[in-house]
Amino acid sequence: MANRERRILIVGAGPVGLAAAIEFTRRGYRPRIVDMAPGPPPIAESRALAINVRSLDLLEPAGVTARILAEAVQVREMRMFANERALLTVDTTQVNGRFQGMHVLPQGRTQRILLEQFSQFGMKPEWSTAFQGLSGQGDNRKALLKLSDGAGVEVGFDMLVGADGAHSLVRKAAGLEFPGNALAETFHLVDYRYANEIDTSFIEAHFYGPGVMGRLPVDSRTLRFVSTLADFRDRIHHPARIEEIPWEAEFRVSFRHVDPMARAGVFLCGDAAHIHSPIGGRGMNLGFEDACWLAWLVSEGREAEYSDLRLPAVRRVLAETRRNTGMALMRNPVALAARNVLMPMLGGLPWLRRQGVRGALGLDTPSPPWLA
Ligand SMILES: Cc1cc2nc3c(=O)[nH]c(=O)nc-3n(C[C@H](O)[C@H](O)[C@H](O)COP(=O)(O)OP(=O)(O)OC[C@H]3O[C@@H](n4cnc5c(N)ncnc54)[C@H](O)[C@@H]3O)c2cc1C
Repeated sequence: MANRERRILIVGAGPVGLAAAIEFTRRGYRPRIVDMAPGPPPIAESRALAINVRSLDLLEPAGVTARILAEAVQVREMRMFANERALLTVDTTQVNGRFQGMHVLPQGRTQRILLEQFSQFGMKPEWSTAFQGLSGQGDNRKALLKLSDGAGVEVGFDMLVGADGAHSLVRKAAGLEFPGNALAETFHLVDYRYANEIDTSFIEAHFYGPGVMGRLPVDSRTLRFVSTLADFRDRIHHPARIEEIPWEAEFRVSFRHVDPMARAGVFLCGDAAHIHSPIGGRGMNLGFEDACWLAWLVSEGREAEYSDLRLPAVRRVLAETRRNTGMALMRNPVALAARNVLMPMLGGLPWLRRQGVRGALGLDTPSPPWLA
């Protein structure tokens, strides 16, 4: 059986590091979690919105899901259009299980819920505490931390969990490569807050030839538009008077993952281990899976299996996201015409439709055995 006295150091108190900290704690461990930021990022600058059914299942035993559901907006439909013509509507509530449909909650709110739930165990992250590298060898390895008062300390650990995001220093210190490639396109993001409540029950993807624009709810009065088109603002049909633009940003997209996901007592979770396009809303959700699987495996004394068990799920999600992103960004006129004809036909086939919904809800990765 696993030794609950193990010294577990988690680097990164983003959503994935916090989920790992909660899962370890509820299983009887006392992890130390550090983050170089002074606190969680502003809610207005929330990257992730979509929380899928797999995450709701995984986070339920810790009491997180009930709190997410109390605040989140349920998205019932995904609607796809090509040049303003309706191609396909998918009902995301048609799955068996305790939870249905995609839920949307700004990442900043999700992080605060995780922090509040962690505090129920009498625990909190150490903010303004940066991981700077590793020293020593074998059992004498230490993490170098720069504390909030500027002092540097060496900290011994039995397990180091790198949940420190896409530019992970833990990954670099463990000597793990992050191979992959970046897309040429720049993505533009704008959140509009409206004067009245709006219909938040659906997500839309508008395909153009070429280019894509997505419309997602952020909350009951805010919509997010994400596009590869420089003139996308001219294509938006606003549902109400704009009151404010809480956030706008531009970002590039890369597809990368580590292999293996662990080495010599260092385990990578979330964006530190894999990054891909936000189309499909899977990055944070996949990171929640990593965190929950890792804590379970450690509690079973089976952490040596972590990388082998997680990599197939990571590869699958990256391949699916790459396919969906490729379909949204295609440029060849013949391919565009074929997509616009085939999508409604294939989407009408019950088996393919069911598979599509299961993927959108994160149910295409292995079921957590501890929840069976
Ligand atoms: C526009 C956009 C939309 C997205 N939408 C979705 C979505 O709808 N659904 C979804 O699932 N995913 C989505 N994602 C992806 C999602 O945002 C990420 O997958 C998620 O934030 C990863 O969480 P994380 O905890 O692994 O990393 P991060 O959120 O990056 O957190 C890493 C933490 O580590 C800390 N840190 C970094 N270096 C150090 C260090 N040296 N020492 C100490 N601390 C350190 C940072 O301060 C930070 O707090 C989206 C991404 C983008 C860009």
